[in-house]
Amino acid sequence: APRENPQVVIDAHGLPYQNAKLPVKQRVADLLGRLSLAEKAGQMTQAERNALRAPGDIAAYDLGSLLSGGGSVPTPNTAAAWAKMVDAYQLRAQATRFQIPLIYGVDAVHGHNNVVGATIMPHNIGIGAGRDPKSAEKTGAITAKEVRATGVPWDFAPCVCVTRDERWGRSYEAFGEDPALVEAMETVIQGMQGSPSGRDLHRNDKVLGSAKHFVGDGGTEFGSSTTGSYTTDQGITKVTRQELEAVHLSPFEESVKRGVGTIMPSYSSLDILGDGQGPVKMHANAEMINGVLKDRMGFEGFVISDWQAIDQIPGDYPSDVRTSVNAGLDMIMVPTAYQDFTKTLKDEVTAGRISEARIDDAVARILTQKFRLGLFEKPYADTTHLGKVGSAEHRAVAREAVAKSQVLLKNDGAVLPLEPNQKVYVAGSNADDIGNQAGGWTISWQGSSGSITPGTTILEGMRKAAEDPDSVTYSRDASAATDGYDVGVVVVGETPYAEGIGDVGNGHDLELTAADKAAVDKVCAAMECAVLIVSGRPQLIGDQLGKINALVASWLPGSEGDGVADVLYGKRAFTGQLPVTWPKSQAQLPINVGDRTYDPQFPYGWGLTTLKKPPAGGELTLTALAVAAQVAEKAKLGKTPAGKAIVDQARLLVQQKIGGTFGQAVAGPFAEADHLLLKGDLTGAVAKLRTAYRAA
Ligand code: BGC
Repeated sequence: APRENPQVVIDAHGLPYQNAKLPVKQRVADLLGRLSLAEKAGQMTQAERNALRAPGDIAAYDLGSLLSGGGSVPTPNTAAAWAKMVDAYQLRAQATRFQIPLIYGVDAVHGHNNVVGATIMPHNIGIGAGRDPKSAEKTGAITAKEVRATGVPWDFAPCVCVTRDERWGRSYEAFGEDPALVEAMETVIQGMQGSPSGRDLHRNDKVLGSAKHFVGDGGTEFGSSTTGSYTTDQGITKVTRQELEAVHLSPFEESVKRGVGTIMPSYSSLDILGDGQGPVKMHANAEMINGVLKDRMGFEGFVISDWQAIDQIPGDYPSDVRTSVNAGLDMIMVPTAYQDFTKTLKDEVTAGRISEARIDDAVARILTQKFRLGLFEKPYADTTHLGKVGSAEHRAVAREAVAKSQVLLKNDGAVLPLEPNQKVYVAGSNADDIGNQAGGWTISWQGSSGSITPGTTILEGMRKAAEDPDSVTYSRDASAATDGYDVGVVVVGETPYAEGIGDVGNGHDLELTAADKAAVDKVCAAMECAVLIVSGRPQLIGDQLGKINALVASWLPGSEGDGVADVLYGKRAFTGQLPVTWPKSQAQLPINVGDRTYDPQFPYGWGLTTLKKPPAGGELTLTALAVAAQVAEKAKLGKTPAGKAIVDQARLLVQQKIGGTFGQAVAGPFAEADHLLLKGDLTGAVAKLRTAYRAA
């Protein structure tokens, strides 16, 4: 067994690559020059830990990396057990000729979500709703700290996908539908990795990130599906070159600027309209990976395939291997047949179908990150922060992010915030369920309902926030007597899922379940009511909307239901804004900001605030704000909080005039204003809001 907390590997050979004082480049060159083809092939191989036939295979095959796929957890599933598990694998890697450490990877896509007791952050869609780059960065930093404490130096996150059709079951992994919003939230990469230079990666609270899925994962086309009327995950993205650049590539350009260490291609295919090529699997797409990502954008990290994705490339296995590696993939998430993979890779190189130079480039990229992470000096878990996993301090960061993520869509009669002394009737399927509020990628790959990990449900949070916990009554299906209450809160929504097409199998096609609808109907008929939708994407609510006084999009808040209670009870103001357009009907999909016809239930960027009162003066004030926007832009305040404050004021004026219903003439410019704001175009944003104001 490994020593308790062994940090220093004895400098056995005294070779240059082992000298931490030498520049990384020199260390890489030295080590690379010593490696055999088999050792290089091993470095390019990532196996799933459960696929290891014997622990000794790590050294026997010179494996460069292991991963825990979603839900591949140690027993017991504790943070300490994770550290022990990873250490035991690292110990095996020390038996290789050059003692090259493994780089262990996990999907910690909203906190260290495979570990029971870790802090579970809101899923990305909620972070996008929060629109706070600083808060996003903090969530990334806490995630990194918890992940690294368990000996894992690499996180397959963030997803910088741009979700263009919310029938896609991974929509909640996206920060939103607007590339400008996704880019603004990529501060999360700095939270995880530190400086773009990579010089912080060796720290015991930083991890290597992975921007995914390159490119167009969120744009797969409805209709190419075998499942009927749903967008296919892993389907085909059909776009013009211009749309590809502006919508899907631009967030990756941002990731590269931020120094993201790895990038994962998408399972989907890319069909660039008009180029005559037809759909090309992204894992085989040399033009995009070699050409755009590496050559044009100058990405210096390494490209890790998705799970078994090269197998989807048409042709036999040797052709899959050669096509993907020649397209620019550096490491393959095999993840089971690592023997086949290493052998095939070696054969292809020996036969000259993959060049030595390509292999050397791939291995150099991988080793560079291993050196930067300090793994040669400290391969084992630095457990200094192990006690911080799931700590109150970390949960406080999540709680703040949750509060920021809540979007108040409607608030007739100012039902929200609640008064702490009100008698509240709570109902609905998602009021008291940690698993449902955490969603997919939590403890297991798909996630599941119930008390799967410690945390606070929304109901529990409300009981803590109320003056008297007993003033909050709960009946999941609203079967208890409904008289004598001041207000009802019905928490409805989806059950967990990951990948694929979402919760459709459970009867969800962006429709609420019959039970949820019944609870809404019953409670809202009996008293003034607020409805909270806990889901990974918008749910169709048009039929109920008239009966509901207040409506909140809660997304998938994670383990800290307290954050929801904070805004419900007015301890914090609602400030969230829609990161995606909220449709009226299934037939409207896909619907996105900038569409020529745009008639949503709620536009992109919508979100009422209980923070500020709108300024008085209407049209006149808008004129003043337009001038202020011009001045601020000249002073280069476009992307600063001061600049945003000007546009926020203009938005408040429009919202005040609209009330709650939008015509197309209002919704379009309202949504576009928000996109322009994120681009730093303050004048453009205020001009759009003026148009919306006049049309309202
Ligand atoms: C997902 C990736 C994930 C990988 C490893 C795949 O199924 O598409 O996002 O990183 O599994 O768990």
